[in-house]
Amino acid sequence: MTCIVQRVVHASVIVDFGGARILTDPWFSERPGYRHGEPTAVPRPADLPPLSGVVISHRHYDHCDLDAFADYPDRSVPFAVVRGLADRVRAAGFERVVELDPWQSTRLGPVRVTAAPASHGVPEVTFVLEDDGNTVFFGADTLRIAELDQVAARFPDLDLALLPINGLRIRPAFNRKMVMDAEDAAGLTAALHPRLAVPIHYAFTAGPVRDKLVLKMDRDRPDTYRQAAAALAPDTEVHVLAPGTPLSL
Ligand SMILES: [Zn+2]
Repeated sequence: MTCIVQRVVHASVIVDFGGARILTDPWFSERPGYRHGEPTAVPRPADLPPLSGVVISHRHYDHCDLDAFADYPDRSVPFAVVRGLADRVRAAGFERVVELDPWQSTRLGPVRVTAAPASHGVPEVTFVLEDDGNTVFFGADTLRIAELDQVAARFPDLDLALLPINGLRIRPAFNRKMVMDAEDAAGLTAALHPRLAVPIHYAFTAGPVRDKLVLKMDRDRPDTYRQAAAALAPDTEVHVLAPGTPLSL
C-alpha cells in the first residue's frame, strides 16, 4: 500500500493510507491576527476528499477550526482528540469522538492512532498514525521536550515525521518559546530517525504589525530546518512541501 501525504496549510495535513485518509489539526478560515501565510490546498471543508478520521492536538484556533469544519458533510466522521476537547467536537455536530492521553490508542477506520506527549502551554498531544506497515508521527506545535524521545523507543521504524519549526514566542513573555524551532526540530529528527521528514507550522503570520509587536518567529525556517537536519540527521530525507504537493512514503 502506498501512503501519500499532502499538506493542506499550516499544521493541517492529509495522511492518505491507501484511501483511508486522516486529517490533522484542521484550519480553514482566517481572522485578523491569524493568517495562513501560504495558499491553502483545500479552501473549504466541503472540498476535502472523504476522510476516515480527524485528529486534533489542542484547542488553539489555528489547529482546531471546528466552526469552519462544521461544514464537512459527513457527520459520522470519527475524531481522536486531546483530553478535554470532545465537547467542542460534539457541539460542532460530530458525535463520534474519543479523547486520548499520551500512549492511549484508538482506531479511525483502519488507521491506528496513538497519542504521544506534547508541551505547549495548553493541554496538547502529538500523534502516531499507523496502517499496514506505514507509521507517521504528527508533531502538532509542541516544544521539543525530552518525553518525545519515547516516541522513538515505542515506534522505532517511523516512515515520516511531520515537525513544527517556527519557534513561536509571544510577547510579553518574549523569552518563553511556545513551539519548537528549526534547530529543535532537527534535533528531534535525529532522535526519531524517521526515513522522511516534512516541516509544518511555519508560514503562519499574524500580519506585519502583530508579527513585529506581539510575536517572534524564526525567518527562513524551512531552509534552516533543512540545513540543521542535514547536519544532525543525515539519514533522514527532508522534503519541504508546498500545500497540495503530494509526497509518497
Ligand atoms: Zn497552538
